[in-house]
Amino acid sequence: MAIDFTFPDDVEDARMLVKKFMTDTVKPRMDDLRDRGAPGDEWRKVIYELRDVAKNRGLWAPHMPEEWGGMGLGITAVAAMSAEAVKTPMGPYLINCQAPDEGNMHTLLHFGTADQKEKFLRPLCEGTMRSCFSMTEPEVAGSDPTQIQTSAVREGDEWVINGHKWFTSGAHGADFAIVIARTDPDAEIAQARNSAFIVPTDASGFEIVRDVSTMGGGGGHPEIRYTDVRVPAENMLGEQGGGHKLGQVRLGPARLAHCMRWIGQIEQALEMLVDRAQKRYAHGSLLSEKQGIQWMMSESALELYSSKLMVLHAAYKIENGMDFRSEVSMAKHHVANTLWKTVDRALQVHGALGYSNDSPLAQMLISARWARIADGSDEVHLMRIADMVMRSYNETGSVNRAVGELPL
Ligand SMILES: Cc1cc2nc3c(=O)[nH]c(=O)nc-3n(C[C@H](O)[C@H](O)[C@H](O)COP(=O)(O)OP(=O)(O)OC[C@H]3O[C@@H](n4cnc5c(N)ncnc54)[C@H](O)[C@@H]3O)c2cc1C
Repeated sequence: MAIDFTFPDDVEDARMLVKKFMTDTVKPRMDDLRDRGAPGDEWRKVIYELRDVAKNRGLWAPHMPEEWGGMGLGITAVAAMSAEAVKTPMGPYLINCQAPDEGNMHTLLHFGTADQKEKFLRPLCEGTMRSCFSMTEPEVAGSDPTQIQTSAVREGDEWVINGHKWFTSGAHGADFAIVIARTDPDAEIAQARNSAFIVPTDASGFEIVRDVSTMGGGGGHPEIRYTDVRVPAENMLGEQGGGHKLGQVRLGPARLAHCMRWIGQIEQALEMLVDRAQKRYAHGSLLSEKQGIQWMMSESALELYSSKLMVLHAAYKIENGMDFRSEVSMAKHHVANTLWKTVDRALQVHGALGYSNDSPLAQMLISARWARIADGSDEVHLMRIADMVMRSYNETGSVNRAVGELPL
C-alpha cells in the first residue's frame, strides 16, 4: 500500500519538540504573567527571552532553509509544527513563523535579489526585523487586485509611490512593507498592471493614518498613506508587472500556513466542547449524553478530520512541485469555515461562560471571523474552485483534476 499517513521521524520529532517547548517552557511563563497581571514591558521582555530560548534550541523559522537560519523543513513538517505552536498564545511568533513575516520571508526567498535578501530577508529570518504586506485599499474591492489604484511612477533611478492602503496588518513596528502598486496602467492583461516594492517604513511620505478599530479590537491593521514615497529602483521585488503573480505565489503557502494555525485552534475548541459537555449536568443527564450536543461533536470532528486531510494533501502537492491552486483554495475555504463553526459550537456548549471573557472562546470566535474574509474571501475561493472544476471537466472530460487528482 503506497499511501502512508504517518509523519517521517524528522517531522514527528520537530512536532514533539514544539509541543514540549510550548507546554514545559512557554505556558508556565505566560500563565504566571497573566495571573500576576504583569505590565506590558514585562510581557515584552519575557517574549524576547522565550524567542532566544527557541532559537538556541533550533526551534526557529521552520519554513526557511538552513542557510537562512531556519530549520529547512518541508511544508508538511511546518504544518505539523504550526498546528502545535498556535495552541499557545504568541506560539508562532516565538518560533518566528508568524503572519505576515512568514509569507514575506517566502516571497523574498522566491523573488528577492541577492542584495534584497541580505538587506531584508536576513534580518527577518534572524528575528531582528518585522514586516508587513500592503495591498488592500479602502476605495476599491480588495478581492480584485486588478483595481489597485496606488501608483508607482519611475523617475530616474527611483520609483515614486502614491496611494492609500488599509488593513496592512502588523504595520506598526514593522521595518518595511511589501507594497503592491500600479506601474503599468495600460498593460493589455489586467493582471500585469501591478508590481511589488520593498518600502522601508521610515521612508519620507510613509504615514500610518490610524489604527483601524475592528470587531477584534484595534492596533493590528492600520490605514496607511503613501505620499511621494521614493524608493530606489532596486527595491522593486520581482519583475515589473509581476505584482499579481507575486501575490499569488505568496498567498499559496501563506494561505496554507493560516490553515495550519487554524487547525490547532479547531482542535482546541473541540477539546473544550468535549470536556465541558462531559462535566455539565442539565435536565437529568450530562450534556454529552444529549444527542443534540453529540451531533455538535460529531460534525466538528468530521470537519476537523477533513480539514486535516485537505491541508496535508495540499502541503503534499506544494512540496512535490505540483499545481496546488485548487487544493489550497478548497482547504482555505473549508478550514476557515470549520474554525468558525467549531468555535461557535464550543461557545454554545459553554453557555454564559463561553460568552464571557473568563473563557478564551469569545475571543477565538471574534478572531475566527476574519478567516473567512482575509487571504481570499469565501466567495472568491468558491468562484475560483468552480472555475477550476469547469475547466477540468471541459478540458479532460472529468472533474478529477480540480479535486486533488487523487487515484480514486
Ligand atoms: C483581519 C484582516 C487582516 C488583513 N490583513 C491584510 C494585510 O496584511 N494586507 C492586505 O493587503 N490586506 C489585508 N486584509 C484585507 C483582505 O485581504 C481583504 O479584506 C480581502 O481581500 C477582501 O477585500 P475587501 O475587504 O476590499 O472586500 P471586497 O473586495 O469589497 O469584497 C466584499 C465581499 O464581496 C464578496 N465578493 C467579492 N467578489 C465576489 C464574487 N466574485 N462573487 C461573490 N461575492 C464576491 C465577498 O464576500 C467579499 O468578502 C486583511 C483583512 C482582514 C479582515
